[in-house]
Amino acid sequence: GAVRDMLLGRIRDVADYPVPGVMFKDITPLLADPEAFTVLTDSLAAICSRRGATKVVGLEARGFILAAPVAVRAGLGFIPVRKAGKLPGATLAQSYELEYGTAEMEVHAEDLTSEDRVVIVDDVLATGGTAEAALQLVRRAGAQVAGIAVLMELGFLGGRDKLKPTLRDAPLDAL
Ligand code: IMP
Repeated sequence: GAVRDMLLGRIRDVADYPVPGVMFKDITPLLADPEAFTVLTDSLAAICSRRGATKVVGLEARGFILAAPVAVRAGLGFIPVRKAGKLPGATLAQSYELEYGTAEMEVHAEDLTSEDRVVIVDDVLATGGTAEAALQLVRRAGAQVAGIAVLMELGFLGGRDKLKPTLRDAPLDAL
């Protein structure tokens, strides 16, 4: 639709970033446009409401920029999932594969309970590895995953297919 086209039109393609051969989707022009940022926030907040979310989880770092205003807009709490070593309290950790090596993300264990239905928010779904680790982390914390919501899905990387077994019944929404 027109809203989707307007938002995606404000994402900039940056060639050969962070490494040669990669076309990076840069969301900073969208963030700099207050009308577009508001429309995006409202769209993602509507997804959270539709999925019956009780909490919004944002993935460091660009996911934070989107998930925090979405949580406020939807009237829900914001929970950060951070790279290992950044959260001061007792955490659960989940490691995952990167193109070169592995990474680890963490959440404060006490931030999520079995009462929670969580929507995970990030900017871009690429191979799906990051989202898969976040799904596992949220479930290990005892909460239910009500859905994943991203601004943009890079379909040619097959993230949706990779996530299918892990998603189970949880919907994956991309604008
Ligand atoms: P994945 O784990 O391969 O799906 O990569 C997704 C993660 O990497 C997300 O947290 C994104 O923020 C980041 N990412 C991957 N590709 C891009 C891109 O082209 N633009 C912005 N972020 C990206």
